[in-house]
Amino acid sequence: MKVHEYQGKEVLERYGVRTQRGILATTPEEAQAAFEQLASQGHELAVVKAQIHAGGRGKGGGVKLVKSAEETREVAVTMLGMMLKTHQTAPEGQKVRKLFVCEGLDLARELYVGIALDRALGLPVLMASAEGGVEIETIAEERPEALLRLPIIPDTGLTSAQAAEAADFLGLVGDLKTNAIDFLISLAKAYIELDCEIAEINPLAITEDNQVVALDAKINFDANALYRHPDIAAMQDIHEEDAREVEAATFGLNYITLDGSIGCMVNGAGLAMATMDTIQSHGGSAANFLDVGGSATEEAITEAFRIILSDENVKGILVNIFGGIMKCDVIARGVIAAAKNVDLTIPLVVRLEGTNVERGRELLNSSGLDLISADSLDHGAKLICEAVK
Ligand code: GDP
Ligand code: MN
Repeated sequence: MKVHEYQGKEVLERYGVRTQRGILATTPEEAQAAFEQLASQGHELAVVKAQIHAGGRGKGGGVKLVKSAEETREVAVTMLGMMLKTHQTAPEGQKVRKLFVCEGLDLARELYVGIALDRALGLPVLMASAEGGVEIETIAEERPEALLRLPIIPDTGLTSAQAAEAADFLGLVGDLKTNAIDFLISLAKAYIELDCEIAEINPLAITEDNQVVALDAKINFDANALYRHPDIAAMQDIHEEDAREVEAATFGLNYITLDGSIGCMVNGAGLAMATMDTIQSHGGSAANFLDVGGSATEEAITEAFRIILSDENVKGILVNIFGGIMKCDVIARGVIAAAKNVDLTIPLVVRLEGTNVERGRELLNSSGLDLISADSLDHGAKLICEAVK
């Protein structure tokens, strides 16, 4: 799960990680008041930062330095409600609903540090580079020697020796080195304790007054561990999530939007993956991943149909169900009820296998529904790919 920069910074501050602090604003008046508050604390400069779940905001016009309350208000008027386009948003951009008005800092250097899970190693890895503010993927690819990578043993955390090695790599000496060591150890502690997937600080700023400050914070949490962190789960901003995925989750469906044209309704994650692959091998492409689970009710199946059909890219549907614990006749009843309920006008191919399959097929055949029956996954995938051509 992704959170906004202001939320990521709030979480890091709990662990003693020094961040560029700010005040959240959702109206131009609040933004103006935020500047006044920062000014009263001695800041002459502030930074208005659009809060969307995407990086590259600076280049897209979502990060602006401001010098007065009036200027802050004007910037807020332009930014709030704008569709901010960055290399990480959809082409139409992402709507800006919140601004983080931050203390403006005088920067001496911009560095990069991040922790991410290395799936090959099976460990989190601390990455550090002296070149901050740049896409780290570019550095990793073009000049890997400019990127330090240190695996972290979760039980131990980032050791002082590792943190010192990273500080040396970044060219930090004296107090700056000491500050950076504390910063990195705290960042790693937050990453491990909060079940993060990514904790990326880009840039990590060295200020003119020798502080080590997180200027930006991109923190992603492992959705499967959110039950351990209800306060973080509550940080989810549904405006930033795919509307269909949010809806599907409320019905216990595992749904992920993809960009193909064939809607898939499958029980079991492995079977869903195999179904997508088989569609691909017949020259088609899946519009979604959907695992309705092992105990989907008629209501959940109806909902699944509705969600699939709400995607205008969907030109046909393949239902692929293996009745194990779940019986095929129960599924067939669900499919029939759902298809009648949602006024189906596109091709529907159904492949059923497993317990009570004969009864299930009978029900489908006598339902009066305009559906195509398939007798294997391969056959079903072939039929739906032909039907949507
Ligand atoms: P991103 O573009 O979405 O990654 O947004 P960032 O939070 O990383 O901000 C983009 C850039 O704005 C940073 O790389 C900095 O160069 C600049 N910036 C942000 N805050 C300050 C600040 O307080 N002072 C100065 N001088 N520059 C800042
Ligand atoms: Mn950044």
